Amino acid sequence: MTKRAYNFNAGPAALPLEVLQKAQEELVEYQGIGMSIMEISHRSSQYEQLNAETQSLLKELFAIPDGYKVLFMQGGASTQFAAIPMNFLKAGQVGGYVHTGSWADKALKEAKLFGETKIVASSEADKFTRIPDVSQLALDPGTAYLHITSNETIEGAQYQQYPDTGSVPLIGDMSSDILCRPVDVSKFAMIYAGAQKNLGPSGVTVVILREDMLQDTPKNIPTMLRYETHVKNNSLYNTPPVYSVYMVNLVLKWIRDNGGLTAMEKRNREKTSLIYKAIDQSGGFYRGVVDPGSRSIMNITFRLKDDELEKQFIKESEQHGFVGLKGHRSVGGLRASTYNAVPYEACKALAEFMVDFQKRNG
Ligand SMILES: *Cc1c(COP(=O)(O)O)cnc(C)c1O
Repeated sequence: MTKRAYNFNAGPAALPLEVLQKAQEELVEYQGIGMSIMEISHRSSQYEQLNAETQSLLKELFAIPDGYKVLFMQGGASTQFAAIPMNFLKAGQVGGYVHTGSWADKALKEAKLFGETKIVASSEADKFTRIPDVSQLALDPGTAYLHITSNETIEGAQYQQYPDTGSVPLIGDMSSDILCRPVDVSKFAMIYAGAQKNLGPSGVTVVILREDMLQDTPKNIPTMLRYETHVKNNSLYNTPPVYSVYMVNLVLKWIRDNGGLTAMEKRNREKTSLIYKAIDQSGGFYRGVVDPGSRSIMNITFRLKDDELEKQFIKESEQHGFVGLKGHRSVGGLRASTYNAVPYEACKALAEFMVDFQKRNG
């Protein structure tokens, strides 16, 4: 087999090699049925079984308490930005948003199309280099929900502690850090994540929804954008993204077989500390973008002294087999995305490359 790239892509991103191999093995014939999983009805017993198993795997791994539904939706996390206010933001209420970066901003802009919003905490003045203090949030009584972005994929800041919102439903966009660590799901009324960073390929969005959120939701919004539709039909209202759900199923089994979320977190911390160490011990040659107290264990953002040197870094890194280290076009700089599926060896190789690059250019 050819050597796998050191894949630090931000999304779509690395998948576990074992998962790709299993998918390859089952591509032409799925479980002895003489066809692939893509060639059969989503009403078949095989798909119903896959749908149910994927839900229960997620419930088990993420320790989702009773009273929540797991949904597989389409349209990416970006569609959830609209579906949330359409379903949950009523006239006379306010949608609360914590403004932590590019993705929080997109969620907020979409909500503004449908109702009243309020930024209840922001780190915009600090160029989103930290997660604001959310330990003492004063939420107005008319707050329909509080929306947070658990990990800002572009800027590289991640919540270390989620806010307590009392009776106000907490909604979390975990697109880029779901299953990177254990989470107290009971704090949330809803968690959602596009799959293509930490769960599988693009095409499916996982939604974890507390059942009471469905009480008196509006009926005059498109059928496909109503959570009620997907709950009532067990994510089989229309044709689901069968292959993406299949891949998520394999990724969940891979996480389970590799020790679950406690092991994932430990490994992610070991992986990222190698790279943060290369930054912190460089005497200022590399500069971490994010305040150490808000650093992400999924997306590491850093800078060099100027554009020229950053370009040189990217060019040389590519020659050494590293992929995806260029920062997002909106913020520039460098970014290493170290999702669950990125191996320890890749992070170790990157840290070594960084030290070596500094020796040659410092
Ligand atoms: C990638 C990303 C999104 C957008 O996901 P799509 O599936 O492309 O719509 C939203 N939020 C966060 C935090 C992301 O990282």
